[in-house]
Amino acid sequence: MRRAEDALLAQLKARLLEISDLAGTSAILSWDQSTYMPADGAVARGRQSALVSRLMHERRTDPALGRLIEQLTPYGEGLPPDSDDAALIRVTARDFAKAIRVPTGFVERLSAHSSAAYDAWTRARQNDDFASMRPLLEKTLDLSCEYAEFFAPYQHVIDPLIDDMDEGMTCASVRALLTELRAELLPLVRAICDRPAADDGCLRGDFADGAQLEFSLRVATAFGYDLARGRLDRTPHPFCTRLSGNDVRITTRVYPDDVTQALFSTLHEAGHGLYEQGVGPALDGTPLGSGTSAGVHESQSRLWENVVGRSLGLWRHYYPQLRAAFPERLSNVPLETFHRAINKVERSLIRTEADEVTYNLHIILRFDLEIELLERRLAVKDLPEAWRARYQSDLGISPPDDRDGCLQDVHWFSGCVGGAFHSYTIGNVLSAQFYAAALRAHPQIPGEIEAGRFGMLKGWLETNLYRHGRKFKADEIVRRATGEPMTIRPYMDYLGRKYGELYGLPQPHSLAAQ
Ligand code: ZN
Repeated sequence: MRRAEDALLAQLKARLLEISDLAGTSAILSWDQSTYMPADGAVARGRQSALVSRLMHERRTDPALGRLIEQLTPYGEGLPPDSDDAALIRVTARDFAKAIRVPTGFVERLSAHSSAAYDAWTRARQNDDFASMRPLLEKTLDLSCEYAEFFAPYQHVIDPLIDDMDEGMTCASVRALLTELRAELLPLVRAICDRPAADDGCLRGDFADGAQLEFSLRVATAFGYDLARGRLDRTPHPFCTRLSGNDVRITTRVYPDDVTQALFSTLHEAGHGLYEQGVGPALDGTPLGSGTSAGVHESQSRLWENVVGRSLGLWRHYYPQLRAAFPERLSNVPLETFHRAINKVERSLIRTEADEVTYNLHIILRFDLEIELLERRLAVKDLPEAWRARYQSDLGISPPDDRDGCLQDVHWFSGCVGGAFHSYTIGNVLSAQFYAAALRAHPQIPGEIEAGRFGMLKGWLETNLYRHGRKFKADEIVRRATGEPMTIRPYMDYLGRKYGELYGLPQPHSLAAQ
């Protein structure tokens, strides 16, 4: 009997490896499209990507796979729930049940449309041309609603889209989190913006591209990002992609007149890369072989970019090296001035350049706008105006054009509308929660970071988070690693403490009363 189940399990794993290899193929097609593909290659690339998506979807929904899962489910339920095989059967069954709801023809149409929309967006953004994107975005919106219908009945049309990114979360639970957070962030932002602004002039000027890239990569590899299993390239919109467990690539963008872009984009993507490279090798080639949810993934990019990457401790170690790389710019800038500059809080227009404190306000307004679009309360043609109005009311400034307005982010122009933005805020919240748990286990971590050593922190994250891949859902892994469900408390404590010191604010608990 046992031998029969081993044979079935081997068949299952062989099928899953093919699906995983198709996913890797799809990833390299889109990595290439974003990095080195000549502009005129877009049409054929759209066709190629659609073909791979179709093949992948066919295998994911193959009735033979369904039969294997059915045969193996009782066996899986008899295994220890934490075992790799039990988790594999459980997660594969869940993925299969979802995949069979979506017809192959739809997957193909969505993939072809996404590719065309992404290609058009790169030009539209350059040319500040929202009008050319309008019909494409209208079609994206239709496709997003069509997709949600496959999962009816739902509480809210965005629920299936959220569930794809952060399994188990809904419009209601995301809204509750954002509402709670906003109530605490608004007084903090107000208190900080009432103080004298930090001067970040030292970050602007002439910073040679090559030296920026070299320095950024030096810090990322010190964190533990492994270049034997990864690489760094340049794209307008940085990302991390997993081709396999031994090929996890990141990209960055370099602004020659701003030393922070390449640096923090690289550290951000390296955080994603550390998570993917840290997944247990035994899980590679299976649905368990990647990060567990978009929100938990983002917690790692945020942890390494912000909690570690913008800390005074890290710069006590690295600032002399940065100064040595750019002596003509930084030799007269004290460490404390640089540290205040990289943590400057201001009401600004661009999400990816926003500071830690105002960042979530950018997310909350995007979440609200995509809800309005999906509920058809906002027409695509009115999006630019609605965008400007929300920036004015929430951040007190309004973009002069759509380039720095509703065209700035790739998300709505390369996939569905809905489900893409909230994960960033979940990531911010969880970054502080994971870090606080790591510090409880190893109080010497800040001292290690000050010495330029990151192995203790990375080790804790690997043991408690990375190696598990998708074995456990987000809420379970958060509980296991931190001892409690997701909570905004560690994040607000972190912000209150850090920015309280930087801006000379009263203690966080008294802010809410102001
Ligand atoms: Zn990210």
